[in-house]
Amino acid sequence: MGNNEAIILYIEDNFHNRRLVRKILNANGYTVHEAEDGPSGLRMVYELHPSLVLLDISLPLMDGIEIVGRIKADPKLREIPVVAVTASAMVGDRERFLAAGCDDYLSKPVRANDLMEKVRGYLPSGAAKRL
Ligand code: MN
Repeated sequence: MGNNEAIILYIEDNFHNRRLVRKILNANGYTVHEAEDGPSGLRMVYELHPSLVLLDISLPLMDGIEIVGRIKADPKLREIPVVAVTASAMVGDRERFLAAGCDDYLSKPVRANDLMEKVRGYLPSGAAKRL
C-alpha cells in the first residue's frame, strides 16, 4: 500500500455487509481494513489512524455510540471523520448518531452511489489508487 493511499476502516460485525462494502470500495480503487467487534475496531483506530471510519452502531462488546464517543474525546483522533452505517431507521436515530459525534450517516442497505459520495466527500482527492 502506497503512502498516499487513504486508509478506510470499516467496523461491522455482519459478514455480508463487510463483503458488500469491501466490494464497492475495491471497485473504486480503495482498500478497506475491517474489524468485527467494538474493542478490536477501537484498537485499529489507534493503530491505523485511518483517514475515514465507517461505523456500524450495533456491535458486539462495545457499540458504535461508545466507539465514536471515545474517538471524538481523544484530541489525537477527533479529526478522523466517522460515518455511521446502520439499518436503524427509528425516528431520531440519525440525530442520536450525530449527537454522539458521528460526522455523517449512511443507511443500510448500502448503495454504491451513496457510499462513494460519502467516501469521496471525506477523503482528499487522489487518495484512491488508480486502477
Ligand atoms: Mn451490527
